[in-house]
Amino acid sequence: MDCLFCDIVKRKQDAHIIYEDDSHIAIMDKYPIQNGHSLVMPKLHHEKIIDMSNDEVGQLFSRVPIVARGILAATGADGFNIGQNNGKSANQIIPHVHVHVIPRYQKVGNTWARRMIASNGDLDTLAKKIRDNISSR
Ligand SMILES: [Zn+2]
Repeated sequence: MDCLFCDIVKRKQDAHIIYEDDSHIAIMDKYPIQNGHSLVMPKLHHEKIIDMSNDEVGQLFSRVPIVARGILAATGADGFNIGQNNGKSANQIIPHVHVHVIPRYQKVGNTWARRMIASNGDLDTLAKKIRDNISSR
């Protein structure tokens, strides 16, 4: 199976590695949203977060503050966003699970994608549906 991130883990592809331990690695995003935008990922290949065990997800996210502290210290960013995309429709480009750490700068501003405005009724209905689905698992 061809996977760019697995190749980076195996050193078959170059990357700007900013963190590495036995099971995880973090690299600079080649197409950053902001200066310092980085990706934290497990070395083991999983496509989506729902393919991982709860423990593996915990292990992955436990690395995020480690990497984020380094990015903040290095860039002088005022804050950061964490993003985690699953599936093409969610803008997941590389099908190897990864967490985006996107530093934010007061002087630049924080541009998200366009927001939709939902009605309270729609939100109530959907919230109940989500709660029911979570509690039935
Ligand atoms: Zn992979």
